[in-house]
Amino acid sequence: MSGSLLVDNIGELVTNGAGEGPLGIRRNAAVLVEEGRVVWVGASAYAPAADHHVDAGGAAVLPGFVDSHAHLVFAGDRAAEFAARMAGQPYTGGGIRTTVGATRAATDDELRATVRRLRGEALRQGTTTMEIKSGYGLTVADEARSLRIAAETSTETTFLGAHVVPAEYADRPDDYVGLVCGPMLAAAAPHAKWIDVFCERGAFDVDHARAILACGQAAGLGVRLHANQLGPGPGVQLGVELDAASVDHCTHLSDADVAALADTARSDGSGTRTVATLLPGAEFSTRSPYPDARRLLDAGVTVALATDCNPGSSYTSSMPFCVALAVREMRMTPAEAVWAATAGGARALRRDDIGVLTPGARADLVVLDAPSYLHLAYRPGVPLIRQVIRNGAPQ
Ligand SMILES: [Zn+2]
Repeated sequence: MSGSLLVDNIGELVTNGAGEGPLGIRRNAAVLVEEGRVVWVGASAYAPAADHHVDAGGAAVLPGFVDSHAHLVFAGDRAAEFAARMAGQPYTGGGIRTTVGATRAATDDELRATVRRLRGEALRQGTTTMEIKSGYGLTVADEARSLRIAAETSTETTFLGAHVVPAEYADRPDDYVGLVCGPMLAAAAPHAKWIDVFCERGAFDVDHARAILACGQAAGLGVRLHANQLGPGPGVQLGVELDAASVDHCTHLSDADVAALADTARSDGSGTRTVATLLPGAEFSTRSPYPDARRLLDAGVTVALATDCNPGSSYTSSMPFCVALAVREMRMTPAEAVWAATAGGARALRRDDIGVLTPGARADLVVLDAPSYLHLAYRPGVPLIRQVIRNGAPQ
């Protein structure tokens, strides 16, 4: 779309910048967009003229959701595993290998179709930025193609060759770590911005995780990791040691883990350099205890919410669902949850141009079918996303 766009008659605008309360709310507001960027925010009554116009009709508008943790490049599904789990079988993470087999057997077009389907599903639910990980290929060629396909859809791509040790390396994990750090990283890095490791019992121990993340850093990738999901462990503190942008899951934390995260506080008082990204869809879908968001927030740790969209442990692409879970099950306030799903996700990706609606930000807006952001948690499961504007373009 060429020309300027004015979104006016906004009853409640969440800016995550200057304004009322932690969400920087403005009432009776308008937003002017030019060339994909927010150029003006102010009172609707004083809004400048524009080439195109969206009347929010008094509804709430917020920044598009930033989903900083998703696994979209895979084939097949694991509905039967889910049903078995709901019938009482525990979740161990071992089902990842089932998806690896299906993913290796799929064509590029089949993988591409799945990524596009899930990305479209998320967009319709208000997600304007979505990180996408590899991690179901686990060969040099399959990881490289997973990232090549992910990069067609997102600039936030993550090399997760260290998702699980594939069956053919089960007896020699050191050799697999060598493959990940060597030829696999070399093939993946041109298509990836981040490197990630599943640091957990049954996946990669702390020494392997440190080695892999250090290789990725040396290749120019930013660090993030899956940590402390299934039990206590060294992942969170490893993330802090390596200046990870985010440590994800954080379900089982010690006091020392929380203190280590709090110690990454930024000097300007705006939270922590390492973000704790909570993925309540995983606890929901594995019927596990939720992470203690309140403990992290009270310690001053920056918290993000993301879907962990994947076919095994959290097959949801819905950020509104995660917001509702965070409020109901994790004792976050609605304002904290909405911030974590927008600005928090941006911080987990070390971005300051998204997750906010202030002049200079990317024009990613969601118009709700509701008068307030509160309805995202208050009306769970209801499709409240009336319109999505991404990069200044109505979708
Ligand atoms: Zn994950």
